[in-house]
Amino acid sequence: MASNGRVAGKVALITGGGKGLGEATAHLLAREGAKIAVSDLDTKAGKAVAAAINKAGGEAIFIQQDVTDETRWPKVIAQVKKKLGGLHVLVNSAGIAIFGSAEDTPLDDWRNVLSVNLDAVYLGTQHGIKAMKDGVGSIINISSAMGLVADANLAAYNASKGGVRLFSKSAALHCGQSGYKVRVNSVHPGYIWTPMVSGALATIGDVDEGRKTLDAKHPIGYVGEPNDVAYGILYLASDESKFVTGSELVIDGGYTAQ
Ligand code: NAP
Repeated sequence: MASNGRVAGKVALITGGGKGLGEATAHLLAREGAKIAVSDLDTKAGKAVAAAINKAGGEAIFIQQDVTDETRWPKVIAQVKKKLGGLHVLVNSAGIAIFGSAEDTPLDDWRNVLSVNLDAVYLGTQHGIKAMKDGVGSIINISSAMGLVADANLAAYNASKGGVRLFSKSAALHCGQSGYKVRVNSVHPGYIWTPMVSGALATIGDVDEGRKTLDAKHPIGYVGEPNDVAYGILYLASDESKFVTGSELVIDGGYTAQ
């Protein structure tokens, strides 16, 4: 698809940029003119995404990062600014999902999910605000439809994604009240076919059967694809959304309309 330069001149840091929603977002923002820093725990996947963007004529770097490591955040942001000349967009996409109910989720699983999905979004947002508050910025935190409605077998995931929703609003209010031109929004995808979802289904049964079950949960009739969400992120990253902050963008095939 032809580029319209919707984020031309911007630099975007995308956590979890090596796979799934982060990968699709990295490619789309690059095609629309942004310089991309792909950060991921998975070096091989992240490097491959940055290389593919560069090969296609864009500009991207890879930075290895565990988003739960507080000490890495200032170093990663400094590296992005030094190598790409600034920071205007932060997409907090890195995340994990572990099945478990309120009654049977082990404390280790609970802490692991909350650490990656919520603590790290707080860390990224905090460091992102500090890095962007003297300019113009957009922070996009990937929550979930599961941050709006619950599933009996996703207790920790629900808690983490619900937390991301209201934390993002608090951060948006803080930026507005402080006079910063930094917007903060959350995105709430329904099920999207990514390694996270296929991998999670594989832990509980047949993947193809699992996909059919998930298809049927969406009024639109199927699970989404990564670009369905990436286009929403592109809008929030661009200046087209300059009046949008503290909002929750639902991209879920009707999942939460039921
Ligand atoms: P994915 O395919 O698993 O990709 C996530 C990437 O993040 C992976 O490369 C993963 O690396 C990386 N990651 C995991 N933990 C990390 C850490 N501590 N530090 C840095 N990177 C880390 O997942 P996805 O489906 O694209 O999901 C992206 C985001 O969207 C997540 O926040 C997820 O909760 C949210 N979401 C997804 C869906 C969906 O249906 N797919 C729906 C709603 C919301 P490893 O593979 O090495 O762990």
